[in-house]
Amino acid sequence: MFTDLHLHTNFSDGTYSPEELAGHAARCRLRAVALTDHDTVEGCARMAAACQERGIEFIPAAELTTELDGQELHVLGYFLDPENPLLLEQLARFQEVRRRRIHDMVERLNQARIPLRVESVMSLANCHSPGRPHIARALVQGGWCSSLDEAFERFLKKGKPAWAPKFKISAPDAIQLIHQAGGLAALAHPGINHSDEVIPELVEAGLDGLECFHSKHSTSVTQRYLEMAEQYHLLVTGGSDCHGMSKGAPLIGGVKIPYECVERMRDRVTQQALERSLLLARTTPPPNP
Ligand code: AMP
Ligand code: FE
Ligand code: FE
Ligand code: ZN
Repeated sequence: MFTDLHLHTNFSDGTYSPEELAGHAARCRLRAVALTDHDTVEGCARMAAACQERGIEFIPAAELTTELDGQELHVLGYFLDPENPLLLEQLARFQEVRRRRIHDMVERLNQARIPLRVESVMSLANCHSPGRPHIARALVQGGWCSSLDEAFERFLKKGKPAWAPKFKISAPDAIQLIHQAGGLAALAHPGINHSDEVIPELVEAGLDGLECFHSKHSTSVTQRYLEMAEQYHLLVTGGSDCHGMSKGAPLIGGVKIPYECVERMRDRVTQQALERSLLLARTTPPPNP
């Protein structure tokens, strides 16, 4: 029995709708999945319904854009309350900045004599959380680049002509935001970020889990993070980071993550909710007689 806890839909930069993604999860015989779109939980309601129809357990989640010591880190929030007011407020801010960044980057492309229009990117993205992959697709569609990789290499990567900085919250703030929304915080793809040295600081800030399994982690890298998770008493999480058909074959189900990870996460989230309610009971004065 397997799970995939890192998946994107067209509510951010994936290509599948929630229903298509749930269909693939069913074909891969996954017992549980989480939707981790970038800086949004908007796809969670439809994904929950689509998973329920297919008898798949669903975990509402998101991948937040954060930073620590000037380094970009992605923090995954699992078991989030998708209606949590503070979370929604912060996500709206992320999305506003993402839209503004598209304008900035298109302007830079125009300065580099690529006459791409913001409207083309926005209509292709058709979501509230647009990102560089949407600009890359528009560049390919318009015939300016022959592949997404070429678009990133020539224009969109950090240091390239169209790159613009992205708003990030600090990783400790993201962990706190996730906790107050009832969730668990896990560091995404540490093997891509080479972020080992920040892990102790994140643990100090309340990090709950480490994404040990990931499509871009080799067996030895996975093993290193499994050991680190044990060392710091972190939950083991993992996922394919499938973005649909954006880059050839879909990655969903490609990394074999034991379902047991989900059970451990559920135990921890239940435990944390209990601890919070006990704390609340202790700090709330009794009603007047
Ligand atoms: P953004 O959030 O706008 O900074 O875009 C980052 C996203 O771009 C990542 O989550 C990846 O999905 C995607 N990405 C990064 N590099 C590439 C690449 N070379 N080809 C396609 N997608 C990429
Ligand atoms: Fe992405
Ligand atoms: Fe990521
Ligand atoms: Zn991702």
